[in-house]
Amino acid sequence: MEKNVQEIVGRARAAFNSGRSRPLEFRLRQLKALERMVQEKEKEILAAIKADLHKCGPNAYSHEILSVLGELALAMDKLPSWAAPQPVKKNLLTMRDEAFIHFEPLGVVLVIGAWNYPFVLVMQPLIGAITAGNAVVVKPSEISENTAQLVADLLPQYIDRELYPVVTGGVPETTKLLEQRFDHILYTGNSTVGKIVMAAAAKHLTPVTLELGGKSPCYIDKDCDLAVACRRITWGKYMNCGQTCIAPDYILCDPSIQSQVVDNIKATLKEFYGEDVKSSPDYERIVNKRHFQRILGLLEGQKIAHGGETDEASCFIAPTILTDVSPESKVMEEEIFGPVLPILTMRSVDEAIEFINSREKPLALYVFSNNKKLIKRVISETSSGGFTGNDVIMHFFLSTLPFGGVGNSGMGSYHGKHSFETFSHRRSCLIKDLKMEGTNNLRYPPTSQKKVDWAKFFLLKQFNKGYIGLALLALLGVVAALVAKIIYY
Ligand code: NAD
Repeated sequence: MEKNVQEIVGRARAAFNSGRSRPLEFRLRQLKALERMVQEKEKEILAAIKADLHKCGPNAYSHEILSVLGELALAMDKLPSWAAPQPVKKNLLTMRDEAFIHFEPLGVVLVIGAWNYPFVLVMQPLIGAITAGNAVVVKPSEISENTAQLVADLLPQYIDRELYPVVTGGVPETTKLLEQRFDHILYTGNSTVGKIVMAAAAKHLTPVTLELGGKSPCYIDKDCDLAVACRRITWGKYMNCGQTCIAPDYILCDPSIQSQVVDNIKATLKEFYGEDVKSSPDYERIVNKRHFQRILGLLEGQKIAHGGETDEASCFIAPTILTDVSPESKVMEEEIFGPVLPILTMRSVDEAIEFINSREKPLALYVFSNNKKLIKRVISETSSGGFTGNDVIMHFFLSTLPFGGVGNSGMGSYHGKHSFETFSHRRSCLIKDLKMEGTNNLRYPPTSQKKVDWAKFFLLKQFNKGYIGLALLALLGVVAALVAKIIYY
């Protein structure tokens, strides 16, 4: 296996070195082929996701396929403008030169995916890395084995098989992969493995993007439309059976509204999933028995206000609400990643802010309030990877926003143009001409205080106001050349 992994990465490197992944037409052809793959193999993709997560077709389409198609359409439309050299502002001494940022591919990128959204979590980084002109080794999660196998079968049928190989398997295969040298690694998964990935990357000085998880809090202010807030929270918490990295992990609210919050969520659950959640096509299952047992363990000793029914054979856990939860309880120690929603009471927004800040920085933070000032206050006094006010999850879907964590919830970000930048090196380029050598005298020996004074004047002066500023700048350019000559001779 070791040789195999080494060979696969070696072939991807050789393919990258051939230069064929760089031309924009080539990148666009690969993206177009991926789009064709998603359209032609839609049924197979939906079936694999169903087999892994018991997800119905319409949900799998909107949770996984839509984002991929949206990302592809955006990348194909914007690639020429993203990849174009980006001119930068110049100073007096570089006025006649060309100064720009050139986006170049990093080389061979490793994308390691997680199982909870098994298709989109490998496809979205893959699209970004191809758009930026890289070779990409894709490692889907072995836990969502059906989708992993499908991705491994499909990609070589549609895109360059040497540039974009898929490695399937579990910890041993990922460990072997991590011994290889990559030019960037994007890993999605838990923080413990994130540290393993980062340590392996450090051996080769490989930069990483770590898309991790954590406990994302949701604060509900008393001044709020509770029916609307709870409807949105119920949607984000229980979709994918709570196995969403940016699901609201727990609720913080005033004790006086706790029972209303419970009632509203209960009413919404009925509206969404009917009387018998178990038979609702919209309600998924826990991915495997290990996670089922882990979540069950979090319920021990808790006051269950709603739900709590389980069935091990089908990995079913009903949408569950816990009330008056203690901050010290087990359910508040780790990310829940399941359909269990603890409510903790807080007497004020100050207390909620203090609580949030006393814990690891979360991947997402949510606040519901009619008071926009309060929402902005929470933004400015806390930290999290992303933030949505008066809704949950939705910042993920706006591709102009960089998606990623901070601190324990990750580092770096992607989506849309941010993916292109994550997988590109921003190369600083300055092209001078060989004329006007006199202007360089300021920096050549022999040095003198007079030269330093002129250099200070030219470099530290700020001219940024309209035509007058530009005219002045041009005039000073001429003066600079003259002065430099005078100093020299
Ligand atoms: P997982 O078990 O599928 O693991 C992710 C990947 O890591 C897999 O490809 C697996 O092969 C590899 N891996 C596992 N153990 C390893 C080891 N010891 N050494 C090397 N590689 C190893 O997924 P998971 O970790 O259970 O994922 C759930 C976590 O991911 C949650 O914390 C969730 O919040 C987070 N997540 C984050 C995002 C995001 O975008 N930030 C998205 C989805 C999930």
